[in-house]
Amino acid sequence: MAQRAASADDPYAPAGAAGIHRIAIPTPFAVGRVNVYLIEDEPLTLVDAGPNSGTAFDELQRGLTRLGRSLEDIRLVILTHQHIDHLGLVSLVATRSGAEVTAIDVAVPFVENYALEAQAEDDFARRIMLRHGIPEDVASALQAVSQVFRGWGARAEVTRPLHDGEELRFRDRSLTTHHRPGHSPSDTVFHDRERRILIAGDHLLGHISSNPLITRPLDGSEARPQALVAYLESLRKTREMDVEIVLPGHGDPISNHRALIDERLALHERRAEKIHRLIAERPRSAYQLAQALWGNVAVTQAYLTLSEVLGHIDLLLCAGRAREVTRDGLAVFEAA
Ligand SMILES: [Zn+2]
Repeated sequence: MAQRAASADDPYAPAGAAGIHRIAIPTPFAVGRVNVYLIEDEPLTLVDAGPNSGTAFDELQRGLTRLGRSLEDIRLVILTHQHIDHLGLVSLVATRSGAEVTAIDVAVPFVENYALEAQAEDDFARRIMLRHGIPEDVASALQAVSQVFRGWGARAEVTRPLHDGEELRFRDRSLTTHHRPGHSPSDTVFHDRERRILIAGDHLLGHISSNPLITRPLDGSEARPQALVAYLESLRKTREMDVEIVLPGHGDPISNHRALIDERLALHERRAEKIHRLIAERPRSAYQLAQALWGNVAVTQAYLTLSEVLGHIDLLLCAGRAREVTRDGLAVFEAA
């Protein structure tokens, strides 16, 4: 079958040599293209599928053709996490090819009941936003945006739920599944120990820091999850892994994961200190903290920046350096 010519300056050449080929699929989101990977092995496998749009589907098919394959050849689809830029086309690919779909067990209810779960997620986010001081009109505008984006996702049937630590066996390789929640509650990385390759989804990205979005817990509980706390714990586990190449969900491969993770850990520590100084000046809501840090951000960024602030507040809460108090129904944070 056709192999893509690997040039010396192609950052994906080493992955290609290991039979893993990147197809970059366009998305309507600020993050830009999403990486889908074709694993040339038995079963022939696609990792993630791109968002649910005609453009993305065309691009996926063109990418497969360039690699000498067609959609119908795919036998297995692996999902790295629940976000719609990765999940949207999974169902269509599986239907057209008859491929099995595999994902970490905790992701299954979300993936299989996508429409209901997405609505529950929006309701959850609205409660978080209002409790933390985001004005009602901003929360409503964000919900409208989210409704529009919802069509880029679609439900899929998971025919093979994976458990943390489970091996996925292929003819020429084996991938170990590791649950690494934080960026989303279902983030999963797949480790080829022999080749020292880690397929990482959005758990670790080279060009941007993965935002630990505050997401409704997958067990349906309504308590606010500590996404950044979970994320840092996941990063520390990944740091210990023996890995030479990390294949991310966006952008180029990462060759020195330990240095990058150390950078990310230091960045979050600095941000937590900055927030501690702000609440030591006077108690503030998370929305006020976001404004103090970034001014009036675009409406579409409001939930991202809120998640960012709350993540760092959680680090301070866990360290006993901040307290959450309720004033007029709003959460306010003060230094402890
Ligand atoms: Zn993601």
